[in-house]
Amino acid sequence: MSVEKVDTLVVGAGQAGVAMSEHLGKSGVPYLVLERDRIAERWRSGRWDSLVANGPAWHDRFPGMEFPGAGPDAFVAKEKVADYFVAYAEKIAAPIRCGVEVREVRRNVGRPGFRVETSDGVIEARNIVASTGPFQNPVIPAVVPEDAGLMQIHSSSYRNPGQLPEGAVLVVGAGSSGVQIADELLRAGKRVYLSVGPHDRPPRAYRGRDFCWWLGVLGKWDAATPGPGTEHVTIAVSGARGGETIDFRRLAGQGMILLGRTEDYKEGGLTFAPDLAENLARGDANYMSLLDEADAYVVRNGVDLPEDPEARRIEPEPKCVTDPILELNLADAGITSIIWATGFTVDYSWLKVDVFDEKGRPKHQRGVSSEPGIYFLGLPWQSRRGSSFIWGVWHDAKFVADHISTQRKYLEYHESAKRVTEEA
Ligand SMILES: Cc1cc2nc3c(=O)[nH]c(=O)nc-3n(C[C@H](O)[C@H](O)[C@H](O)COP(=O)(O)OP(=O)(O)OC[C@H]3O[C@@H](n4cnc5c(N)ncnc54)[C@H](O)[C@@H]3O)c2cc1C
Repeated sequence: MSVEKVDTLVVGAGQAGVAMSEHLGKSGVPYLVLERDRIAERWRSGRWDSLVANGPAWHDRFPGMEFPGAGPDAFVAKEKVADYFVAYAEKIAAPIRCGVEVREVRRNVGRPGFRVETSDGVIEARNIVASTGPFQNPVIPAVVPEDAGLMQIHSSSYRNPGQLPEGAVLVVGAGSSGVQIADELLRAGKRVYLSVGPHDRPPRAYRGRDFCWWLGVLGKWDAATPGPGTEHVTIAVSGARGGETIDFRRLAGQGMILLGRTEDYKEGGLTFAPDLAENLARGDANYMSLLDEADAYVVRNGVDLPEDPEARRIEPEPKCVTDPILELNLADAGITSIIWATGFTVDYSWLKVDVFDEKGRPKHQRGVSSEPGIYFLGLPWQSRRGSSFIWGVWHDAKFVADHISTQRKYLEYHESAKRVTEEA
């Protein structure tokens, strides 16, 4: 039986796979994309119902196409984000085969390229681009046992308030997902506890410009690595209700009960680190430093933007911060569910090639791995802070496509191009 052959096989058709398609196509590299579900599936079935993009439509998109039917400052609903990538793939006529899972990739022995086992047969590929996403496997820390008698789900399984049982809810993790979900549950009339760890919380807008704009002009999306000691600092932003600055004190004022980092569970009770005030103070410091940098930018460049003194007003500390809860009996607090907004890991178990370090992380430089022919795309901090986001992955895809294209030129080296050494 003949085996299908392709130069470059892209695994996954989220935004990374679509961006890769565009650049491989433009470079003239023959390629195929395999997607086990549908294009941009995670934007459809991997997120809660009311989610909108965290960045405005002018920013959270590829350069080649605007969001149809959305003004530039709109925060586009998640289904529309998925539709956008479907439309983009159609526009560039990307050869994307949906419903085909890549099960195993192995390097050929004694010759270049890879043997790819899929749910629809075997494919031979010269190059593989793993664009299976920065957020694949939900992580729930082993704190509360499964038989503790309450519902426990990861934020990726949360859909809407109606899904939860009667009673109070504890949301663990106050990055963009945790804080948005906690806010939605509070608005739905639930009693909500929110466990807050270290975070950054940029202003949604300052002096009339969205924070996406500020991070762009201040060069922060281009940061190559997280600052020292900030590797585990999450970013709390929201595009909900037209975009709002995340303000934990305001949420506490509305009745949300803030807690420090969740630590241990024993006999129906949870303990929390005494770090709530410190985490809020760090978040404030990050917030204020961005305002300061923005002000300095305005002065330095003589930009005409309105002053915004209100942005510097910080609400007084609520009681849950000055007198923090360090232990909580879940039954006494009426907590019947926990939502773990505690992040994700990656899963490259299908990639049986020696390109991972001892912790299972891809060994690569800007997506070009240590094994010739294996590439990664969409990794957090692949080349910069923006790498795992919509606009960032587009630029990383261009770099990876350039690399593939250059390597193809080396491989096309032929007799007529041989150095002539005997002519003279
Ligand atoms: C809640 C949430 C909100 C976010 N909001 C924003 C936002 O507003 N703006 C922004 O820029 N970013 C946002 N992000 C970050 C990022 O844009 C998304 O995570 C995005 O989905 C990443 O795209 P991707 O293509 O890299 O990966 P994914 O979207 O995860 O796509 C990977 C694809 O690979 C497929 N796949 C996986 N394994 C295989 C296999 N073995 N064979 C075949 N197919 C496979 C999957 O089915 C999937 O479709 C958000 C992330 C989260 C979690």
